[in-house]
Amino acid sequence: MTPCPTCKQPLHRVHRKPLERKLSYVVPVQRFICYNHACRWQGLRVVWKAHPLLGTKQDRPSKGNQEAS
Ligand SMILES: [Zn+2]
Repeated sequence: MTPCPTCKQPLHRVHRKPLERKLSYVVPVQRFICYNHACRWQGLRVVWKAHPLLGTKQDRPSKGNQEAS
């Protein structure tokens, strides 16, 4: 969970605006909001794990594990 940069409370993901979805093809951004009423921070965070190209590489198993038997 991504912490709030201001109050360190856990942030909640919210839907992005259309412009921000296009931006996320270049830089994988997600929009977050802080539910702390004293803080109410919201904004974009860069989340490289969520990138459509970079994110899939980590799902591949390393070579040859299933042939070991
Ligand atoms: Zn906060």
